[in-house]
Amino acid sequence: MIKCSPVMRICISCRKAYDRKNLLKITKDHKQGIMIQKGMGRSAYICKSKECYSDSKIKKKLQKALKTFLEPEFIDIFEKEIASYNDYDYPN
Ligand SMILES: [Zn+2]
Repeated sequence: MIKCSPVMRICISCRKAYDRKNLLKITKDHKQGIMIQKGMGRSAYICKSKECYSDSKIKKKLQKALKTFLEPEFIDIFEKEIASYNDYDYPN
């Protein structure tokens, strides 16, 4: 029997597994550089809980996960993106 289960990914901050749909995906695209929620290439996932996305070490963790240096411009975009989430409540 084929079961349709959600694709689980691990948050780089809290290391918990979540449905990919509920995570913020940051991708180092081969051609276009760092992208949020799109692009092809090495990706890192961050859950939408405040402790994770507002973690002071999140930039370092992202850089390590993506093996790249994140430009301050990206951090601005990233912060705007996460500001739109507020504190997401995961249904458990
Ligand atoms: Zn997390």
